[in-house]
Amino acid sequence: MRVLITGSAGFVGSHLADRYLADGHHVVAADNLITGSLENLKEARQNAAFRYVEADVTGDWAAIAAAVHEHMMGVDLILHFASPASPVDYANHPFETMAVNSVGTEQCARFALKHDARLLFASTSECYGDPREHPQREEYWGNVNPNGPRSCYDEAKRFGEALVFAFLRKRNLDARVIRIFNTYGPRMRRNDGRVVPNFVTQALAGKPLTIFGNGKQTRSFCYVDDLIEGIVRCAASDATRGVVVNLGNPDEREIAEFARVVCEITRMPLSIEYSPMPADDPGRRCPDITRAKALLGWSPQVSLEEGLRRTVEAFSTNAGRAL
Ligand code: NAD
Ligand code: UDP
Repeated sequence: MRVLITGSAGFVGSHLADRYLADGHHVVAADNLITGSLENLKEARQNAAFRYVEADVTGDWAAIAAAVHEHMMGVDLILHFASPASPVDYANHPFETMAVNSVGTEQCARFALKHDARLLFASTSECYGDPREHPQREEYWGNVNPNGPRSCYDEAKRFGEALVFAFLRKRNLDARVIRIFNTYGPRMRRNDGRVVPNFVTQALAGKPLTIFGNGKQTRSFCYVDDLIEGIVRCAASDATRGVVVNLGNPDEREIAEFARVVCEITRMPLSIEYSPMPADDPGRRCPDITRAKALLGWSPQVSLEEGLRRTVEAFSTNAGRAL
């Protein structure tokens, strides 16, 4: 198969590239490096079946089309993962975030139609905002502040979903949407501001862990290998055409409890520094994955403790600190 991955120098996109290459496919990776790094593609770039093109998916489609044509003579599957994803990153890049999920998604849909390719759009649990239903099922419409500090991301992803469904209904695009819940693992940017790299980096440096609010808010953390397996199954399935699928791990934890687990795994004493809760930070989040189980036969296999062990090992190897 011939696969185009946008956002492929990022955390999730680079793991996706490695997986499709390992499965024997051809991959073109497009990225403008706004939050990604070529370091993540070090192994992929050794592979003759891989081609990287530095391009902004909101505009540089001549470059992407040329790479797709020269490298694979066409494309069968487009995985649209380009977008800042950390609250700190999208607060720093609100315009770019809105553009890549709106204009960028439209460009991906048009390119897919032109090449008779399938599209998978990476949406997010943020579509549910600060949810009033728990756990979150795909049918839930969410509780989103349309102009708050997270709105550039939440509303852009919701718009992206609407756009994908308009292309599906009016142009018969073969498309599906996944809503990803907090995913973590090796290759997260140390300073991207998300809770996993923050806590792991702080613990390894022997610094206090920075809990926002009282730490009673919850998240459900999915190890990246589990997410990748879910994405590959969703992209390969005819049954997911026109369907939204939650992908995440339903093992819900309070952030304070998560801090305790990070300190346990890093074998550091628990020390906390509290600061105020950011505006509109969701109070609870946990995926209902009934649909993913039924359609894809998928559920996460890696426990939080095991996933964190692997993540800490990767972070500490890079930092030169033996566990
Ligand atoms: P990331 O920041 O590590 O990766 C995003 C990549 O997209 C980066 O390499 C960045 O340079 C690239 N990019 C951004 N705008 C671009 C543009 N206009 N043109 C080309 N490239 C562009 O983030 P991630 O965690 O890997 O997230 C990947 C995707 O998954 C995003 O769409 C995100 O919204 C979605 N998602 C991730 C999570 C998660 O927990 N990691 C949760 C929900 C949704
Ligand atoms: N958080 C925290 N300390 C940090 C970073 C994040 O307590 O150093 C909290 C944040 O307020 C949120 C949760 O951890 O409630 C997850 O934050 P993250 O930025 O990873 O992702 P989100 O799920 O909010 O998009």
